[in-house]
Amino acid sequence: MMTASAHLLSQQQDTYSERRNARAPDFILMQLDPRDVIEGVLLEEGFQSEDAPSAGHMREHCPHCSGVQLQLILRYKFVKRSHLFCSSCTRCYDALYPDGTSALALSAMSLV
Ligand SMILES: [Zn+2]
Repeated sequence: MMTASAHLLSQQQDTYSERRNARAPDFILMQLDPRDVIEGVLLEEGFQSEDAPSAGHMREHCPHCSGVQLQLILRYKFVKRSHLFCSSCTRCYDALYPDGTSALALSAMSLV
């Protein structure tokens, strides 16, 4: 019985990962201080910086805004480090693998 139920479980997981995009594992989103990711000035109404070019949309959604896909911002000029950006609430995130390493630190372009 143990074998049968274990097999059934793995079949369900395969179906699940095929329906999702199977290229990458689920990421843990960690909110970043915008001052750590982009050069800008802190104003009373919030952090203001130049618009950074988006390299594409991630399949991850912003945890604070339902249905808003995060954009991938690569390190570029005034962008200090690659990060995920929500155009709705302007929060910045890092994407961590389940083991805690940053998915954006190495080859962020392969994520889009
Ligand atoms: Zn948001």
